[in-house]
Amino acid sequence: MAALYFHIPFCKRLCGYCDFLRSVKVQLIPQVAEQMHKELEEQHNFLTDNKIKTIYFGGGTPSLLQPSEIERFIDRARELFDCSAVEEITVEVNPDDITEHYVAELSATSVNRISMGIQSLDDNCLKFMGRRHNAEQAVEAVKRLRAGGFHNISVDLIFGVDGFGGESLERTLQGILSLGVEHISAYHLTIEPTTHFGRALAKGELKQVSEQRSEEEFIAVRQALTAAGYEHYEVSNFAKPGYRSRHNSSYWTGDQYLGIGTGAHSFNGTTRRWCEQRVEEYAVSIEYGSEELTKIERLNEYIMVSLRRAEGFDIQKIAKEWGTTHAERIDLGCKPFLERGWLRKNGDNYAIPAEHFLISDTIIGELFC
Ligand code: SF4
Repeated sequence: MAALYFHIPFCKRLCGYCDFLRSVKVQLIPQVAEQMHKELEEQHNFLTDNKIKTIYFGGGTPSLLQPSEIERFIDRARELFDCSAVEEITVEVNPDDITEHYVAELSATSVNRISMGIQSLDDNCLKFMGRRHNAEQAVEAVKRLRAGGFHNISVDLIFGVDGFGGESLERTLQGILSLGVEHISAYHLTIEPTTHFGRALAKGELKQVSEQRSEEEFIAVRQALTAAGYEHYEVSNFAKPGYRSRHNSSYWTGDQYLGIGTGAHSFNGTTRRWCEQRVEEYAVSIEYGSEELTKIERLNEYIMVSLRRAEGFDIQKIAKEWGTTHAERIDLGCKPFLERGWLRKNGDNYAIPAEHFLISDTIIGELFC
């Protein structure tokens, strides 16, 4: 089964740390939405698996779309694909878009999961990051969604922000836990050179947190969330039992996916396809890029995404799909990490214990072919 993703590349204001493909030219929304319908028509045959399991609206800020527009995309997907077994339809929202009216309209659509970018419940931290909402708006938005009948809510938080660890992070964690949401994504702040934060860092106006601080905050987040009953099932993701993100799990298990909109990528088992145009260009004409993945690239991708998950990778699967030479080399490469406790072996599966997820990139890099 495959996953379908719609990228809504608009934001009312740009956050200081964000390097996603997005634009503040919200006047282009109607034009871009029409282009996305066109792209959906043109590209739906890219997938060889026509059965869709999940639909996801990400961004940017999908809550800048009217719920009726979101439903129009879902309806068209139902006409083009077999959507009889769709399990999850998620929309990312910003807290300040979540009015009672918006919730009422959204609850009348097929959307059954909400992902909200809260990031922090400390107003000073929110202001520092350039977010357009405050802590009170975020809490109210979750309550409104609950009252509107949404029972599968995920929130994002960001840690590793210089000056906002300690008590600030603790307040955020406790505040989020008191909301009782089903899923929490916790990301370490990364500062890319092309962002406002990146430029401030280069001028010395901003500091990165130290590695030790990163680790301490990661452990604090992990401890608070796992103690509250959330399963740490992927490097950045925590879920109550039964509430893992099914859409993201498709990416991590190698399923096919179709991404619609500029900034979205697709994969059909052998070929990757994407559109990375500026929003203004996409609004006029769509240009695609694509590449065939080599066998080795697919193996590296399998190792990378698997080791970010609690289940890890299956060495027998590697032997079967990529050959015993690769499997033996990887088996050998795992040994030093097993000895240090950075990898665990369970049956045929190698996995990074969740408390060591923070160093997953180092381990993954060593095991690459
Ligand atoms: S973080 Fe989200 S809301 Fe902020 S600019 Fe990026 S996409 Fe837009």
